[in-house]
Amino acid sequence: MDTTQIRLAQRPVGEPDASTFTTVTEALPELADGQVSLAIRYLSLDPYMRGRLSTAKSYADPLEIGDVMIGGTVGEVVESRFDGLLPGDFVLSYSGWQTAAIADGNQVRKLDPSVAPVTTALGVLGMPGFTAYAGLLEIGRPKEGETVVVAAGTGPVGSAVGQIARIKGARAVGIAGGPDKVRALTEDFGFDAAIDHRAPDFVDQLRAATPDGIDVYFENVGGAVFDAVRRRLNTYARIPVCGLIANYNLTSAPEGPDQMAGLMGQILTKSLTIRGFIQSEFTRSHGRDFVRDMGEWVGSGQVRYLEDVVDGLENAPSAFAGMLRGENFGKLVVKVG
Ligand code: NAP
Repeated sequence: MDTTQIRLAQRPVGEPDASTFTTVTEALPELADGQVSLAIRYLSLDPYMRGRLSTAKSYADPLEIGDVMIGGTVGEVVESRFDGLLPGDFVLSYSGWQTAAIADGNQVRKLDPSVAPVTTALGVLGMPGFTAYAGLLEIGRPKEGETVVVAAGTGPVGSAVGQIARIKGARAVGIAGGPDKVRALTEDFGFDAAIDHRAPDFVDQLRAATPDGIDVYFENVGGAVFDAVRRRLNTYARIPVCGLIANYNLTSAPEGPDQMAGLMGQILTKSLTIRGFIQSEFTRSHGRDFVRDMGEWVGSGQVRYLEDVVDGLENAPSAFAGMLRGENFGKLVVKVG
């Protein structure tokens, strides 16, 4: 069995482009006992992958030049030497940007396509959905009647944050880029208000959408959105810092005055809680509850999800770069084969 792989060719400066990646086809090794061979059907593209292209110190090691790009995948078992998995079974694995792979049977999770579409294991019922659930409930702790604000609101994390906030009785305000995404926030995901961070009057829109201030700001983006949001924070506001996508392609510090003194003053005088997190730290404490609650909410339609499916592994590099610019509309998944 051959696999076509997309590997890291060179570290990007700024936006990744075609020169960042290289494509290689090679034969897979023989199966050993306890292993399965997989035909990869879907690949998840996620913002964290940008961090792995850089040698900047982070919570996870960078990829080396020549490594296969990492990523969550849904694969179909082709051949099995692992008890409990048969050809035709679908599994969640971490096989990366390639068309086929060998995996240890005890490192994959079997999926049941009759319960939910297998792609949801990469989105609302997978890592991004869990990020929203654990980050919002553990750090954001929204209370009934409070205002929760989230940007990248139509993505898998942001859309789940807004909908879970509403389930908990809070008012959800979504931020997204462009009129189509803004419409989806209220019409598809049920946000109470939606605003466009690309609009020239964004700051005015934010003020109008948050008449009682902001109690929880689930931070997905940083940059100009954070600058505007922080001025509307209420006393005791909580900020789960989940992602800072506005910064991921930066090659130098952003222009403009240093805002640190103002921000520290606000943290002090408004008793703000700002706490970063990586979702995996909550697996033990919140994993079971997530499977129970999110499974129920998605099953009942209380939590809806949107997927943006791109056809063909060869289109993964451009789709990935596009996501960092906001071109995806929903959870970005590549249909590999
Ligand atoms: P996503 O929303 O599907 O895609 C990223 C979105 O970010 C884009 O579609 C774009 O949406 C928005 N964006 C890009 N540049 C922006 C900018 N300068 N200002 C404002 N918005 C911008 O991604 P996701 O998978 O749900 O991830 C959302 C965030 O969560 C990311 O920051 C990611 O790194 C983070 N994350 C963290 C963890 C963790 O463990 N801490 C786990 C998963 C994800 P618009 O067109 O609407 O602007």
